[in-house]
Amino acid sequence: MIFEHLRGKGVGIVDVHVHTFYNDDLNKALLKAIDKFNVERAFISVYPFDLGSMNPDHESVARGNRKILELARRYSVFRGVVFVNLLNSMDLYMAEKFLKEGFRGIGEIYRSVKPRIKLIEPYIELAKQYDVPLLIHIAHRIYPRSRPREADIGDLCRITRRWQRIRVIAAHIGGGGDWENTVEMLRLCGARNLYIDTGGSVGDSYMIEDLVKHYYKENILFGSDNIYTTSIARIEGADIDPNTKIMIYRDNPCKVFSCD
Ligand SMILES: [Zn+2]
Repeated sequence: MIFEHLRGKGVGIVDVHVHTFYNDDLNKALLKAIDKFNVERAFISVYPFDLGSMNPDHESVARGNRKILELARRYSVFRGVVFVNLLNSMDLYMAEKFLKEGFRGIGEIYRSVKPRIKLIEPYIELAKQYDVPLLIHIAHRIYPRSRPREADIGDLCRITRRWQRIRVIAAHIGGGGDWENTVEMLRLCGARNLYIDTGGSVGDSYMIEDLVKHYYKENILFGSDNIYTTSIARIEGADIDPNTKIMIYRDNPCKVFSCD
C-alpha cells in the first residue's frame, strides 16, 4: 500500500478536499481517520449541509468560516480554505479577511449558482492577489436529473482558459454523475491550470487509469471529500505506476496549495 509506504518514509498524504463540521464529535472521528490513513495535511472547508441551505446567507457563511479558522488553529494537520456563496456580495470582503488570517484557498464553491464569469471574476482577482487556488464543486448528472445551478467541467474549462494564471481544482472525479464526461472534457479543454481531485463516493473501475492516460498526470490531486476508504482504494487499486500514485498523493497537491 503506497499510503503505508509513505508513512515508512516519515511523510504522508496531502488531502486537498476535506470538510469539517460544527459538531466536534464528528471532527474528532474525522481526525482519527486522518491519522489512520496517514494524512499529513488536510485542506478543510465548511461542510455545506451545516449551513442549512444551498444558498446560505452571508452571516451563515461567515460563521462557518469562523469554525474553520478555530479548527485550523487548534489542529496542526488542518489548513483552512474559505467557503463563499457567489450570490452574497459581502462574501468577497469576508474571503479576503480569512485569506489574511492564513487560509490557503477559496472553496469549496458549491451549488448556489453556476460560476458564471461575472460572478467568479472578483474571486479570480482575489486568488491572483493572494496566490491561492480555487476549489469548485462539479458534477454532470445523468440520473435522476440535471441540477441547473450546479457547475460542470465545461464551466471550469471556460474559467481556466480565460484566466490562465490562476489554479482551479475541479472537485471530486467520483462525486456523482458521469465521470467519463469529465475525463473527456478535461482532455478537450487542455488547460494546464485546471486540476482535478480524486475524491467522491463512486467506486467505478478505471477512473484513475483513464485520468492518468488522458490528462496531465501533474494535474491530478488526491482529495477524499471525507470518504477515506473509497478514495484511497481508488488510488491503491489503480493500475498505474507507483511513482504516479505518490505524485497524486502528495507532490501534486503541494504544487497547487502551499503545504507548510
Ligand atoms: Zn466537498
